[in-house]
Amino acid sequence: MAKLSLKIITPSRNMFDGEADMVVMRTISGDVGILHGHQPMVTILDYGILSIKIDGEEKKAAVLGGFAEINSEGMSILTDAAEWDAEIDVVRAKQAKERAEARLKNAQSNIDLKRAELALKRALVRLDLGEK
Ligand code: ATP
Repeated sequence: MAKLSLKIITPSRNMFDGEADMVVMRTISGDVGILHGHQPMVTILDYGILSIKIDGEEKKAAVLGGFAEINSEGMSILTDAAEWDAEIDVVRAKQAKERAEARLKNAQSNIDLKRAELALKRALVRLDLGEK
């Protein structure tokens, strides 16, 4: 089966540039699996775990939002923050979770509440992957 070319770009690095058999990403409308030849599209990513299947192996990364574009060249993910499973600092994510939970309790405004909810969600995705 033909492979799909995938690039993952963050502000600090080209995190991945290679070929994959299948990519499963968490979009704002749910998980979407992408194979070679998928129709062109642009989609907004939710915070979630990205799965890349290559030759029977699976690579996993936490991807904290961003965009995915699929065109005839392949697929590109552009995101502010992403980490491979082994890169996740579990202690940091636990601290972020605790901070966010404390802020949720003490939120003074809807903006505070929303920011804390988003921070909590990022921490939970990181812990979900990092603690495996
Ligand atoms: P924190 O409050 O711990 O900074 P955050 O959710 O605010 O967490 P982000 O803004 O999503 O952090 O990410 C900032 C940068 O730090 C990104 O480069 C991201 O990859 C990295 N990063 C954040 N948390 C972790 C973590 N637990 N392990 C590894 N890298 C992390």
